[in-house]
Amino acid sequence: MHEHDVIVVGAGGAGLRAAIAAQEEGADVAIVSKLHPVRSHTGAAEGGINAALREGDSWEKHAYDTMKGSDYLGDAPAIETLCKDSPEEVIQLEHWGLAFSRDEDGRMSQRPFGGMSFPRTTYAGAETGHQLLHTMYEQLVKRGIQVYDEWYVTRLAVSDEEDPTDRECHGVVAYDIKSGGLDAFRARDGVILATGGPGQVFDHTTNAVANTGDGPAMAYRAGVPLEDMEFIQFHPTTLPSTGVLITEGVRGEGGILYNENGERFMFEYGYANNDGELASRDVVSRAELTEVNAGRGIEDEYVHLDMRHLGEERIIDRLENIVHLAEDFEGVDPLEQPMPVKPGQHYAMGGIETDENGETCISGLYAAGECACASVHGSNRLGGNALPELTVFGKRAGQHAAGGDLGTAKIETGKRGDWETGEVDTPVEPGDVSAPGEDVVADGSGGTTTSSGGSLSPEKYVQRALDTERERVESLLEKDEGRQHAEIRADVQKSMTRNVNVFREEAGLKQALRDIRDAREKYQDVYVADKSSTFNTDLIQTIETRNVLDLAEAITLGALARDEFRGAHWRKENQERRDEVWLKHTMLSWEDGRPDLWYRPVVLEGENKTYEPKVRSY
Ligand SMILES: Cc1cc2nc3c(=O)[nH]c(=O)nc-3n(C[C@H](O)[C@H](O)[C@H](O)COP(=O)(O)OP(=O)(O)OC[C@H]3O[C@@H](n4cnc5c(N)ncnc54)[C@H](O)[C@@H]3O)c2cc1C
Repeated sequence: MHEHDVIVVGAGGAGLRAAIAAQEEGADVAIVSKLHPVRSHTGAAEGGINAALREGDSWEKHAYDTMKGSDYLGDAPAIETLCKDSPEEVIQLEHWGLAFSRDEDGRMSQRPFGGMSFPRTTYAGAETGHQLLHTMYEQLVKRGIQVYDEWYVTRLAVSDEEDPTDRECHGVVAYDIKSGGLDAFRARDGVILATGGPGQVFDHTTNAVANTGDGPAMAYRAGVPLEDMEFIQFHPTTLPSTGVLITEGVRGEGGILYNENGERFMFEYGYANNDGELASRDVVSRAELTEVNAGRGIEDEYVHLDMRHLGEERIIDRLENIVHLAEDFEGVDPLEQPMPVKPGQHYAMGGIETDENGETCISGLYAAGECACASVHGSNRLGGNALPELTVFGKRAGQHAAGGDLGTAKIETGKRGDWETGEVDTPVEPGDVSAPGEDVVADGSGGTTTSSGGSLSPEKYVQRALDTERERVESLLEKDEGRQHAEIRADVQKSMTRNVNVFREEAGLKQALRDIRDAREKYQDVYVADKSSTFNTDLIQTIETRNVLDLAEAITLGALARDEFRGAHWRKENQERRDEVWLKHTMLSWEDGRPDLWYRPVVLEGENKTYEPKVRSY
């Protein structure tokens, strides 16, 4: 058994920032990651990181834009923390050596991004995430922080008191991808989940294959609520054949969207008369699909994004990476031709419920980055706001886990304070389908929901989680026939893209739930064909697929329950934002092997003002 003060799961931007902060606080910290740090998906981030750095801008303006972008579903204490702390974090990155693009006068360049009232997106060409990841990795190496890379975390070691808010997290269990062995990691002070987004729930996504939502799924099954899962961002400019992202920076620099008739439809059809192409992402994605549905799409599928008028010099200076992506993944030279683009799954606004210090309702368990929901993005994230979220909340989670004093959080977690029960009419029973005694889709710490009243020592909880996990992996490997994970996963991904996309309606959402149930039943019979112990991706993907199923169900249940149109969530039956009913977060807790729906009010009271919900237009 390995032992450290703080264990960080994940080595993307959030995990690296958390580890550095925990170490600065004096903790013995280690990172456990299924990928080598610089292969983490943060490296794919292109457009930039928002920070109010210049005269004429302020954190208050950034907070206002973010709250408006969230369609008034973000929590003010989290949003204000993000916007206040982001400038310091960007300057820190610059001091660590991040090679930001520069203006003629030597200042860091900033460009306009969708939904922002000021050009505050600071960038390094179209490779901001790559630069950010490498800069922080250098700090990690310099500080000698231990990294267990290519270790896949499969289970949290959490005590099993009946009420999740009484539970404690003592460590994790991980599978060594190189050797095939399982081992335990005991965390004396805290575990920080920084496992990234769940893009693999959908089949057309900008996310990497490793983005399977492992952190949210593990936390959910250990008793932490998932928050606002229905809010999935579909980015308006992804390449049709692969889902590869074309950054919003192209539109920020002046790129234009055209339909089949060559019309600049954002203005021509009044989708966003002021901001046009630079309206918020949800607005542009709906506009593109409306064009396609009205018969004005190209090949009935996509629209064109044209940046030729920017000129080669400017394109190569600020967007060179885009030229290579369009050429390599779509066979289009954007210096000579417009790029075909369509909406694709890009980001999860929801995730593991945390407060603004990164802490969950389980003591000693933290989350930061895309896997977490603090909640800064509410129902729609503004471009350039995820990277500051990684650094600001990664740092806070690291500091808090290591014993730093950040003051009492204003956001409550778990079923404490103000909350109400919820109901949703589902066509099939959601949750676990395992026969009695077969633990396939449920696990907290020991793998059952029985309570031992929290009587074991921390080491024993960790050991028990390891023993349970060994049994599970052995049972997955011992079967010689059955269903393969790839077939189960592909069916669910297709159904999610078809039924839980930009435009949603009750019948489609119910169909998705039936498909997920069907997949859960098939998963009962899943088997791993590859029995080897070195780089057994068959086994890893089989375990990941279970996480994909849990998250697909959480997203769809939230989407079915919320019968209003807010931010990225559009419902055919109710195409209006309904503040009188829905100014609340959707919460799902895994209780007795099934999801329990409840709600918590949005916190609109900020430090100096209360944000009044207004009509959101661009
Ligand atoms: C193509 C693309 C472009 C983007 N561009 C921008 C942009 O310009 N600006 C912006 O603000 N945002 C952007 N975003 C969003 C932003 O990049 C992501 O939200 C963010 O990088 C996620 O960082 P993370 O640290 O949370 O997760 P990741 O960087 O995905 O890292 C997750 C880590 O967790 C590890 N992990 C996962 N599961 C396990 C497990 N079970 N066991 C062990 N380790 C595990 C992985 O190995 C990895 O190290 C973009 C997103 C995409 C997809």
